[in-house]
Amino acid sequence: MAMAWRAAPRVAARLALGRRGIASCIDPSVGLTEDQKEFQKVALDFAAKEMAPYMAEWDEKEIFPVETMRKAAQLGFGGIYVKPDVGGSGLSRLDTSIIFEALSTGCTSTTAYMSIHNMCVWMIDTFGSEEQRRRFCPSLCSMEKFASYCLTEPGSGSDAASLLTSAQRKGDTYVLNGSKAFISGGGDTDVYVVMCRTGGPGPKGISCLVVEKGTPGLSFGKKERKVGWNSQPTRAVIFEDCAVPVGNRLGAEGQGFSIAMQGLNGGRINIASCSLGAAHASVLLAQEHLTVRKQFGEPLANNQYLQFGLAEMATRLVAARLLVRHAARALQDGREDAAVLCSMAKLFATDECFLICNQALQMHGGYGYLKDYAVQQFVRDIRVHQILEGTNEVMRMIVARSLLQG
Ligand SMILES: Cc1cc2nc3c(=O)[nH]c(=O)nc-3n(C[C@H](O)[C@H](O)[C@H](O)COP(=O)(O)OP(=O)(O)OC[C@H]3O[C@@H](n4cnc5c(N)ncnc54)[C@H](O)[C@@H]3O)c2cc1C
Repeated sequence: MAMAWRAAPRVAARLALGRRGIASCIDPSVGLTEDQKEFQKVALDFAAKEMAPYMAEWDEKEIFPVETMRKAAQLGFGGIYVKPDVGGSGLSRLDTSIIFEALSTGCTSTTAYMSIHNMCVWMIDTFGSEEQRRRFCPSLCSMEKFASYCLTEPGSGSDAASLLTSAQRKGDTYVLNGSKAFISGGGDTDVYVVMCRTGGPGPKGISCLVVEKGTPGLSFGKKERKVGWNSQPTRAVIFEDCAVPVGNRLGAEGQGFSIAMQGLNGGRINIASCSLGAAHASVLLAQEHLTVRKQFGEPLANNQYLQFGLAEMATRLVAARLLVRHAARALQDGREDAAVLCSMAKLFATDECFLICNQALQMHGGYGYLKDYAVQQFVRDIRVHQILEGTNEVMRMIVARSLLQG
């Protein structure tokens, strides 16, 4: 059975080798600049050597691979679209998408956490004062410290603007009370970017505070047991009379919801990119399995029904990638419709890529359902991409609203 597991590193290695053995129609490097091809190769190599061989173990033992992520940060992946003067790589949203897609072929769950971390660092870099940028960003970009994004609450998920965690101003501090649910990295991370209520109801009453681990009154719930995303912990984050300096507020009072949503625009591209990586790896796993496995006296690959299935998977993958890259460019260019395009990309790519991975599992027959085969982990890991950073129903709401408002 160890044999089967070698398929994941092997597939990641095939990707890292570039075109060799991979049809150019699904090659993720097509259309990229020489620079982009270069760091895509670095990310694919890293995925193949440092992530894919361990992704099963991280999943099984629920290991948060801190040292591996720090190695990735040495390559510039801890603050990819953060400005260089505070340790970031200063790359574009498209560059970021290319890197997350590549890393995700090695371990989708770990890459997805890294994408959330990157989103948080970008929020501090973009909306923080000079003093805040210099205080927080360098150690986050190097991943000496890790960050979490805290928006969801037990009573407010899709209706995020109804959040209740209160932050009452008392002199030079805000005193926080309330709790956040489902926080990725929660308990293991050092810096919490928290959306909380400093004013009246609705989005305009929300501010954004950076809360550091160790602050009295900050505690964590039990580690959640999850279907996938097991290489990163998920916990509730609890505030009980937790006093946070006013100097930790990002932006102005009442700007928090806007900051949270702007963070999520990029977050949605990133999570969609993680889905692309999982789907690409799954297409290759299915291709290998169909070629090797024989039934009815010949390789499964000779069966036209399965050939058509593989063709559809490849087509869905390329279509999803094109939309994600289109949205990434729109966000980079500050286009007016960028937020809607990011929602479209997240909706389409995470739905299509889940179908691809699931179909790849089906092509493995019973073996696909065994934990010894990598494809099931890609299915489990990307299922949640349809739920978080705004569910895909919320994505439809955003797209429909923009269409109907003209
Ligand atoms: C593993 C994991 C990690 C996460 N990490 C983070 C994190 O790091 N930080 C963070 O802040 N949050 C995080 N989340 C939370 C995630 O963003 C929420 O779960 C998500 O936004 C949905 O909220 P909910 O679970 O409360 O579902 P609900 O809002 O209760 O929705 C339930 C269902 O109803 C649908 N629905 C709701 N309203 C409508 C409507 N008006 N029209 C149509 N359908 C609707 C939803 O789409 C969904 O299918 C994480 C979640 C998971 C599972």
